[in-house]
Amino acid sequence: MFKSVRFKLTVWYALTLSVTLSLFSVLVYNNLQKTLYENMDRLLEFRAEGLADAVEAYLETEEIETGRVPKASSKSGTFFKVTQSLLNGDVYDPKFAAIEVKITDAGGIILASSPGAANAPEIPEGTLNEAVRGEAAYDTIKAPDSQDKESVYRSYTTPVLKDGETVYLIQASRPLYQTEFALNNLRTMMAVLVPLIVLFTGAAGMIFARVALKPVHGMIKTIRQISAENLSLRIPAPDTRDEIRDLASMFNDMLSRLEGSFLSQKRFIQDASHELKTPLTILKGELEVALKKARSEPEYTSILQSNLEETNKISRLVENLLTLAKFDNREIPLDISPVNLNQVLESLASDMVQVAEKKRIKLALKLAPGLPEIKADAGQLRRAFLNILDNAVKYSDEGGTVIMSSAIAGAGVLVMFSDTGRGIAPKDLPHVFERFYRADSSRSTEGFGLGLAITKSILDAHGAAIIVKSEPLKGSSFSVSFPGQDIG
Ligand code: ADP
Repeated sequence: MFKSVRFKLTVWYALTLSVTLSLFSVLVYNNLQKTLYENMDRLLEFRAEGLADAVEAYLETEEIETGRVPKASSKSGTFFKVTQSLLNGDVYDPKFAAIEVKITDAGGIILASSPGAANAPEIPEGTLNEAVRGEAAYDTIKAPDSQDKESVYRSYTTPVLKDGETVYLIQASRPLYQTEFALNNLRTMMAVLVPLIVLFTGAAGMIFARVALKPVHGMIKTIRQISAENLSLRIPAPDTRDEIRDLASMFNDMLSRLEGSFLSQKRFIQDASHELKTPLTILKGELEVALKKARSEPEYTSILQSNLEETNKISRLVENLLTLAKFDNREIPLDISPVNLNQVLESLASDMVQVAEKKRIKLALKLAPGLPEIKADAGQLRRAFLNILDNAVKYSDEGGTVIMSSAIAGAGVLVMFSDTGRGIAPKDLPHVFERFYRADSSRSTEGFGLGLAITKSILDAHGAAIIVKSEPLKGSSFSVSFPGQDIG
């Protein structure tokens, strides 16, 4: 279960999702926090500076009208009334909700304050000093709230200047609990939602992966049943156009090829045993008959000769089988050297001329002058050509003609063997290179049906192609083409 692709996919998916979602949440949270605090600072500054301007303007006007700067004397004095009314003025402005304002003298003693300013924090020492020097400052301060609980405030303190000197201070402050509450809410929501989303999508991913991989389970089930005995089984290909379908059809193709080669191996063994059985049966029969009673010497000689013939047949067959098996296993290394095919054909002709003459068959050579050499194993090629030539003579009647010719074909070389023999029926033509295949008409002629199979193996190893054309009763022609080579 934990090693399944489905599980791994889901885990990776869930991990990636949780990392991305967490990063996203942190980013959103930080951004919101920054914006909220910046907005609050701007509002506090706006409120305090607005009041400072108003107080400065009031002091200025009074000085011009009465000739003296009004002093904050008692709570019934004009300064107190004017400033208090300034503080009360904007209290219902929703912009300034929850912002408390205080006006103090340069030493921090409260002169006037907004209605809810009782809980607002005191101006810290450092800020007082800065304000006296004429500079405004922000603070985050802990102070008890109305329920006497500790609560955090953000405040902005700015000086009111008269002739360049700090005469009063204005502090605007606001508790942070609302902002903190909103941020806390968001944090909790994210802490709950992120794992929930990851869990949900992980489960959904698991289900999707199961649906997508369902055909694979079917495939595994079928593959388990496949053995050498039932290579004809095929795995079900899903009705989709995805990789799984490709995999299924490729696997089925592979099975078809395996089945094909398995069947041909099986047939090969059956055919080989069958071919071996006939001469062995004859041999056995002859020996049994010979042993039945004492024979004269000529009789023994004749029996032994017949035995030898059958033994030769068996040894030829076994040799051919071995050659094919070695080619199949690529155990025959090619001894490659530059080869002049004209010379090969000439030497073949001189070897075969006697056999041909015995059947009164004319052997002719039509060699192209200046035929380029090819890189090949001369011995193996000779063997391949000999099988073709041997057939041409074997399947021709007396008085026939066999022509061996060579030609230059583009960058390559062509070799042809044509005869005027009995020809090959169209139904046999596609099979003549198969192992043990013999046309019915050839059964009376000696042979195992392995010659052309060996020829084909040798030519394949050389990268050469062979094609056969034939017309029954008129003759056959085998053309072998060697591709162009860089002889170097
Ligand atoms: P075989 O030992 O039977 O000659 P081959 O593999 O050499 O085996 O040839 C396969 C079959 O192809 C032959 O049995 C024969 O029917 C047919 N064949 C091959 N060459 C010729 C040819 N030149 N003329 C007529 N039939 C041919």
